Amino acid sequence: MSQATWFEGVKAMVGKEYGRVNSWDPVNSPMARQWCEMMGIDNPCYYDANYGESSPHGYLTVPPAMLQVWCMEGLHINNYAPGSTKENPYEVLKMIESHGYPAVVAVNSELEFERNLSVGESIYYTTRLQEVGEEKTTALGTGFFVTLIMTYFSEKAGGDEKVGELLFRVFKFKPANAGAPKKADEKPAGIPQIKRPAPGVSDDTKFFWEGAKEGKLLIQRCKSCGTLRHPPGPSCPSCHSFEWDTLTSKGVGEIYSFVVMHYPEVPPFAYPNPIALIQLDEGTRIVGGLEDINPKDIKIGMRVEVVFKVVETDQGEITLPLFKPVL
Ligand code: ZN
Repeated sequence: MSQATWFEGVKAMVGKEYGRVNSWDPVNSPMARQWCEMMGIDNPCYYDANYGESSPHGYLTVPPAMLQVWCMEGLHINNYAPGSTKENPYEVLKMIESHGYPAVVAVNSELEFERNLSVGESIYYTTRLQEVGEEKTTALGTGFFVTLIMTYFSEKAGGDEKVGELLFRVFKFKPANAGAPKKADEKPAGIPQIKRPAPGVSDDTKFFWEGAKEGKLLIQRCKSCGTLRHPPGPSCPSCHSFEWDTLTSKGVGEIYSFVVMHYPEVPPFAYPNPIALIQLDEGTRIVGGLEDINPKDIKIGMRVEVVFKVVETDQGEITLPLFKPVL
């Protein structure tokens, strides 16, 4: 099928409306309280009924930015509340994908609110496929910008009321290097190599990079109370002292948490790109890339040790502390 033919089919879907997605629970304070805890928000408008009633809202409300939360499916994917549509509002992405555009990246998420919600309201949303742009080539690759609009309503006896809107735009694309065989240090002729961005080095962090250059993993230590801290900073979070020295870490610890980056592939990093939060044996944590390991074999609690690697950045060479499994 030529691109023109299948893309006509995609264009014909623009404007399609998808049925409602219901919420499992009415707007409620326990969810709002937990969300506020996670986001670090402390506002009695969201948990204190007496305060809420005497506030400018006149009722107990919830953070507006939680709008999306109410209709989410929960821990299990696609476990939507009873009565929700069985249609897939993202079907257009599957269609584009089947024509050779496997990657996706979210580019815009814009929320608009009509008013504050009150505890007890039942919320649902409907989705409209708003726009599919013409094929475009970006640094990530070639593909299509797809825009969906989710309109949120509150159920009302006299007619449901619009309470907000979410514009969600993704780029569905063919990665720039898709299909190319990957060889270490391969340098395509004529294309300038993209270098790693150099880390920002400040007066607070200079010692760390200088240590790395000498093959030392230096951790900042408070001179007053001995608390270790990383990343480096000007004062001790425990006792607020500005006096500090450093401890040379043995560079050994265990994986406390990790992520494996797959998409989007940003040059010059190798993918999949595993990055871990490491609990050093000295007691503080540090973030670092993982080397010499298949991402499938990474486990929480795995013992790792530092390796220093000289890399080329856009501002010259720098020595990076990376971590590899202790064998
Ligand atoms: Zn201290």
